[in-house]
This record gives sequence, C-alpha cells and structure tokens, in this order.
Amino acid sequence: MNPRLDINYEKLVHNTRILTKKAEQQGIVVAGVTKVFQGNPAVAQAYIDGGVQHLADSRISNLSKLTSLSVPKILLRIPMHSEIGDVVKYADISLNSELSTLKLLNEEAKIQAKIHGVIVMVDLGDLREGIFSDKEFNKTIMEIKELQFIDVKGIGVNLTCHGGVIPTEKNLSKLVAYGKRIEEILGHELEIYSGGNSSSVYLLDQKKLHPKINHLRLGEAFVLGTESAYGEKIPNTHQDIFQLVGEIVELKEKPSVPIGEIGMDAFGNTPSFEDRGIRKRAILAVGKQDFGSYDLFPVEEDITILGSSSDHLIIDVTNSKLNYRVGDEVRFNLRYGALLSLLTSPYVHKNIIKEL
Ligand SMILES: *Cc1c(COP(=O)(O)O)cnc(C)c1O
Repeated sequence: MNPRLDINYEKLVHNTRILTKKAEQQGIVVAGVTKVFQGNPAVAQAYIDGGVQHLADSRISNLSKLTSLSVPKILLRIPMHSEIGDVVKYADISLNSELSTLKLLNEEAKIQAKIHGVIVMVDLGDLREGIFSDKEFNKTIMEIKELQFIDVKGIGVNLTCHGGVIPTEKNLSKLVAYGKRIEEILGHELEIYSGGNSSSVYLLDQKKLHPKINHLRLGEAFVLGTESAYGEKIPNTHQDIFQLVGEIVELKEKPSVPIGEIGMDAFGNTPSFEDRGIRKRAILAVGKQDFGSYDLFPVEEDITILGSSSDHLIIDVTNSKLNYRVGDEVRFNLRYGALLSLLTSPYVHKNIIKEL
C-alpha cells in the first residue's frame, strides 16, 4: 500500500542497544521516547528489545496504548488539569512544574489508591517547561512534602527545544544542585536525575555528564541515529530506519520553466525557475499533506526534488541510471519534522519490517 513508511525493526533495536549500552556503562538509565510514532506498541517493543528501562511520551493517549509493555511509563508533557484521571491511570511518573497540578495529582492518586511518581522540572534557560525561580522552587518542594500520594522520584531538565540552549557540564551542574536541595528538604535521596533528551547524547559520548546524572529521555537518537545538539550522526547507528516510499503516477518529459504568466503556487508563494531545458519528470502520489513542509532526501543520489503540493511530489529523474516506469517506487530518507508528519498522516501506511 502506497504511500508507505517502511520501519526497519532490527535497525531500531540496534540503535537503541548501542545507546543503552553506552549509557549503562556510565550508570545511566534510558527512557525510550515514543511520541514520534504515537506510542505504537509494535514499534515501542524495539526499544524494549534494545534495553530501555522506561517508556516515555508527551501524550497520555499514546501512553494508554502501551499498557501491554511492562516497563514504567513516563508522561513527558506537563499534565493538563483536565486529564489528571488518565495521568494517574496510565503514567507511573509524570514531569511537573505546577503546584496546582501536583495537588490535583495527589487527590486523584488517593482516589485511585496509587502513589504517583513525579519528576520536578527546572528551567535552566531554554525557556520551555520547568520552575525558573529559586523562591518558587523552594516553596513547591516544601508543599510537595505534604502530599501523601506523591512520590518525588527525581529532578529533570529539558533543553534544546524552545531556546536551542545546549546542555553543558555547567548548566547540568545546576540541575544537580537543585536535586541536592530537594534531597535536603525531603530528607531522602532522589532516584532520578534526568539530564535531558537527544541533545545530551554528545556529553555521553565525551563522558562529560555529571556523575549524579543517571537518566536520559531519548527519542530522536534512536529513531534517526542523530544527536540534536549539533545534528551529528551517532557513530555505529543507522540513519535510515524510517523511509518514505512513494509511487510514480506520471512520468513525462517536460520543460523546466512553466509556460505562461507566473502568479502564485498552491501555497501563496511566487515560484521561480531555472531553465535547464527539457527534463524527465516523475510525479509521486504523496504530498505536503503527508510530509508537511519538511525536507526529504532521495535515497538515489541522481534524483532531485523539484517541488511538492498537497498531494503530489515532483522529482527530476533525468540523471538516474534506473529506468523508471509508472508504478515504480522511489525511496526517501527523512529528518525529524518530515518523520513526525508522515507518522501522523492517516494516509501513509506504516509498514514494520521485522525478520522472523
Ligand atoms: C520529546 C521529549 C524528549 C525526547 O526528545 P528527543 O530529542 O526526541 O530525544 C525528552 N523530554 C521531553 C520533555 C520531551 O518532550
């Protein structure tokens, strides 16, 4: 069924294993982040096979699909007041920065006869989630101490998401200082010092993570084999686990410059064209509605992308050594944005390739 997204299960297990092993050698536990594939349990199983000890997602509806996988589940996005019941039901641990929400979690945990785990988030400058002021931090921890059905498991930070701030030895040492302060107030040690996402992987490679940091939450590093501080490939990992496959519906020789007066394209932009003569062009039955406005990278290097609209992708196959015909398939590698769109598109078939 096309268009489809081929998902290579063995390669995903491999990437996961490379990183969980490396982390383990430094005393670090890894949570596998499932949000990019909407908590699909068949894909999440590859994380488990690769050695993650937690599964984490930003959406509770995704976590609710993972109940058959018996590792602790972490809710990554700060919970909404309107979803507290499901948070306590489906997440063992949630990331939190608001006292009002923690109080609701406490009441709900009491009703469900559970102890809900919490990782307190601090903001070290990226300016997305997390407690920012020292005063609020102290007040929050003092009050959490009184919440009987909340277990403060740890402290965490998220970086390189909104502000592009890179995790360093310096800013992560602040996380450790905050953690020590919680330990003083609560009178017990914290189990989790969660030092970030795929942008912290470079510190793992350089063995520069503070020894107190014992937890990372990784998605991109597993699915794309890239770290997200500098966008580098991670050694010994695969970058082609997910590939878009589109099918050719038209193949014709046409000029490279449109004929007629140029107005706007389908998205309100005025396009410009370089005259490269008559070219062999293929139209694939997949478009912006599926992959968003993000970049795709043809696996075959001799292909170039000419453009796309809602339902069509136009490529130039003039230089290809393959003799394409209508009905043939063309494959693309992806970056995070395109992958996220494709995995969310109901029009794209998800095809998990698993060796028996
Ligand atoms: C998405 C997310 C992650 C994982 O990020 P990657 O860059 O995919 O590793 C970790 N923590 C939080 C809070 C997130 O929202």
